[in-house]
Amino acid sequence: MSLGLSWVTAWVADTVKVVSDNRLHLIDLDREIGDGDHGENLDRGFTAVKAKFESLPSDSTPGEALKLVATTLISTVGGASGPLLGTAYLKGSQAIGDQAELDSDAVVAFLTAARDGVVLRGKAEVGDKTMIDAWTPAVDAATAAAADGKSPSEVLRAASDAAAAGAVSTEPLVARKGRASYLGERAVGHRDPGAESSSLIIAAAADAAASQEG
Ligand code: ADP
Ligand code: MG
Repeated sequence: MSLGLSWVTAWVADTVKVVSDNRLHLIDLDREIGDGDHGENLDRGFTAVKAKFESLPSDSTPGEALKLVATTLISTVGGASGPLLGTAYLKGSQAIGDQAELDSDAVVAFLTAARDGVVLRGKAEVGDKTMIDAWTPAVDAATAAAADGKSPSEVLRAASDAAAAGAVSTEPLVARKGRASYLGERAVGHRDPGAESSSLIIAAAADAAASQEG
């Protein structure tokens, strides 16, 4: 079982839905420790991605499709999260090159390069109360699952479970990057909106992979 273009299009469709369903939830989280625009930013971005995908050539590689996600997010999402997530998809797409089908190692390469892209751009470390607190546990869990011989879908499920736990782990933290860092101790007790949305996006990747298995 490997993941091709149909997985990317299913992932985008699932992400559009989950971001739209969680728009208010993400706005509420960002209102607590930021400026309240995170749900709006992502909803605008993925709505634009959905429109772009309507004219995606059917012979595109997964990498080309994921690059389209990247460039669309970079050009349509304001705020810190647009360039950061856009860089994640861009670096991830470059890591898988022109492979038509992604095996477990390619999924790990995608996730690792995506996370590394966010770090390169935003310089956050685990524990800084950012989306990295979802991405890095996801990469670690995916790497372990692939080393265990798990399928791409199982690798993404392991990543998704770890990202969800990672998002929850931001709650007791003081933020050291982004807008929330201006709040000092007042950010304690609130979940980071970007960690939450990244966990939702990674969960959508796992759901899309599971649906591919039929
Ligand atoms: P803004 O903060 O500009 O309003 P958003 O609200 O869309 O942008 O996104 C905020 C999220 O961006 C935060 O919750 C955090 O997860 C993420 N973020 C901010 N700065 C960084 C950074 N330097 N590295 C990684 N993630 C970051
Ligand atoms: Mg914001």
